[in-house]
Amino acid sequence: MSLSEITQAIAKAETKAGRMQGSARLIAVSKVQPLERVEAVLEEGHRLFGENRVQEAAGKWPAFKERFPDVSVHLIGPLQSNKARQAMELFDAIHSLDRPKLAKTIARLAQELGHCPDLLIQVNTGEEPQKAGILPAEADAFIAEAKAMDLPIKGLMCIPPVEEEPSLHFALLAKLAARNGLAELSMGMSSDFESAVALGATYVRVGSAIFGARVPVA
Ligand SMILES: *Cc1c(COP(=O)(O)O)cnc(C)c1O
Repeated sequence: MSLSEITQAIAKAETKAGRMQGSARLIAVSKVQPLERVEAVLEEGHRLFGENRVQEAAGKWPAFKERFPDVSVHLIGPLQSNKARQAMELFDAIHSLDRPKLAKTIARLAQELGHCPDLLIQVNTGEEPQKAGILPAEADAFIAEAKAMDLPIKGLMCIPPVEEEPSLHFALLAKLAARNGLAELSMGMSSDFESAVALGATYVRVGSAIFGARVPVA
């Protein structure tokens, strides 16, 4: 699919769900993609991108940002506490706040830096042991704790288990966000973004469907 085909599919899903056009924003996930593919999408006018590794993003986005100053880059992958400062300087939003220790580190750095990117809390909706994220049963308490630290918590993010019907996970995430008064829902990828839009996604994170298959990392 091309960028415009995806944008159209999102618009169609918004209409079908009775949602406002543009209420589900497309994050083009550019991780591990060759620079020329990323550049082509920038040249087409797209301005919102996602990366899952701090180091990789640090090597790529400062130069692109000089040429395309209105670009936004969101971190959608796990964040180690020792990379938090770099991430806060580099990204416009972080979708992977997933533990109390990281919340404390970000809160301390926000004081020091005088700014903080928008934050989304990752919820492990499938309760998978190998996956990052707050467990659904602990989400309300963690959201309250993070808000009490004055962190700019904007919403929730999830990555459903590969083997399961994603819509159940999207619905659960939407319910958790609604009852905590959070507006942003980061959910849906190449294979399921339309169902995510139907269930209220405000960000869909689409990689391979835009850029083509990722070249495997060596
Ligand atoms: C890679 C990645 C995506 C995009 O996946 P595609 O299947 O290529 O669309 C979305 N979200 C996260 C967290 C990712 O790491």
